[in-house]
Parts: sequence; C-alpha cells; structure tokens
Amino acid sequence: MTVASKGKTNFKRRVQEWAEKLDIRVASISIRPMKNKWASCSTNGRLNFDNALLDLQPDLQDYVIVHELLHFRAPNHGKVWKALMMAYLGDYEQHEAALSKIASQSQS
Ligand SMILES: [Zn+2]
Repeated sequence: MTVASKGKTNFKRRVQEWAEKLDIRVASISIRPMKNKWASCSTNGRLNFDNALLDLQPDLQDYVIVHELLHFRAPNHGKVWKALMMAYLGDYEQHEAALSKIASQSQS
C-alpha cells in the first residue's frame, strides 16, 4: 500500500468514527483535489474532501470533518451549527483561522 492510499484510508476511517459519534449516516466519502475549499457535502450524504487535508495535523482534519458532518444537522453556519461545533471541538475558531491561513498561502 502506498503512503498516499494509506493516508486516505486513515482519513476515511476518521470520518467514519466521527460520523458514528455524531450519529450521522454517511453515504460516501471521497478524497480528491478540490478548488478553493477543503470539503463539501450534499444532502444525500455524500462527502468530498480535498486531498491536501491529508498533509495537515489531525486536529485540523477533525475540524473539517466535524464541520461538514454537522451540516447534515444544520445546513448553514448559524446558532445551531456553532453550538454543536463548540460542543464537539471546543475552541474551533482557532482551527478555522489556521485553515484559512494555510489556504491563502497555498493559493498565492
Ligand atoms: Zn460549512
């Protein structure tokens, strides 16, 4: 198994673990290069993650994973979503800031 595919397998396992913890049914998980965002989700339970996430530290991966999974409960970034983020990740806003910094560096 290559390093890249091992990284993907581990990442998917992490997504599954969070999905179980949050009691959310995930239809499919794919990891591929994405433009301008870390991840996306669709209402039918499909999740897409940017493969650049595989290189990031685990707590930033968790931020993106939980962020997307919680959109199955709350479609926007309103009060409900924020409260859930806080409950599962604590001070998530610092991860959000770290990720946008990484994104702006890689796009320049
Ligand atoms: Zn979002």
